[in-house]
Amino acid sequence: MAGSLQGKTAVITGSISGIGLGFARALAAQGCAIMLNGFDDATAIEELRAGLAAEFSVPVFYNDADMRDPAAIVAMIADAADRLGKVDILINNAGIQHREPVETFPTQKWDEMLAVNLSAPFHAIRAVLPQMRARNWGRIINTASTNALVGTPELVCYTATKHGILGLTKVVALETIETGITCNAICPGTVRTNMSEHRIDAFAKKMGVSKEAALDEYTARKQPYHQPMGRFITIEEIAAAAVYLCSDAGAAVRGAAFTVDGGWTAR
Ligand code: NAD
Repeated sequence: MAGSLQGKTAVITGSISGIGLGFARALAAQGCAIMLNGFDDATAIEELRAGLAAEFSVPVFYNDADMRDPAAIVAMIADAADRLGKVDILINNAGIQHREPVETFPTQKWDEMLAVNLSAPFHAIRAVLPQMRARNWGRIINTASTNALVGTPELVCYTATKHGILGLTKVVALETIETGITCNAICPGTVRTNMSEHRIDAFAKKMGVSKEAALDEYTARKQPYHQPMGRFITIEEIAAAAVYLCSDAGAAVRGAAFTVDGGWTAR
């Protein structure tokens, strides 16, 4: 049976692991051709690319653009248009995090995080919009965070960039309001990926406990504010939101901060 995104094409940044790979798998499962992006060694990336293409019977390509490099981002969109034939869907997902109090937060980390988490989506959207307008159809999704809606101590730049991406999302949604292009943000709660795994490892080390004990404590510790459901959000739960936003049923969702956070920001 044909998927709901048969014939569509997507560029997904930071899609070699975690949530981005979840987006790639979910869209490919709906028949969408994919341009992957992100960092890993070349052999692992090629295995992943070929594996996805075989599993879902869709074209899958890879572009190695560094999201800190505006020219590489523009070239990635051009490369995707060339190899995929067009870009119908753009998911700005690549993201980095660094925890430290504001007084000692390294300024170089601030600049780098601003580039990857906020400026890269701007450059990609700017590059892709003309072709979406020409076809009067497009879906732009920005991976934000609960930190787009609330602040977390020691996540000053992460919180600032994720709040910023909601502003970018709203303005792009309004500037395209009379077209068939939508722009929305997905705001996940805590998902187990490389990003959160580092934090759990650091937490276990700090508490002097095993990873299992740290995991129990990590979810319990955050109750009731961060994890009211008492569990992590799954990659599949986040990816399903993207499939919905990309579908025709999602056409009227414009400029939204679509939370999939287990109630974190409901309180
Ligand atoms: P992850 O570390 O597994 O994924 C990050 C991806 O970004 C990787 O594919 C990595 O290669 C890529 N990347 C990093 N720097 C890059 C650069 N300069 N150029 C190109 N690619 C680059 O972590 P994740 O949790 O899957 O994160 C994906 C997105 O989800 C991020 O935007 C993150 O802020 C957001 N998010 C994560 C969580 C969570 O709990 N894991 C919660 C809310 C939001």
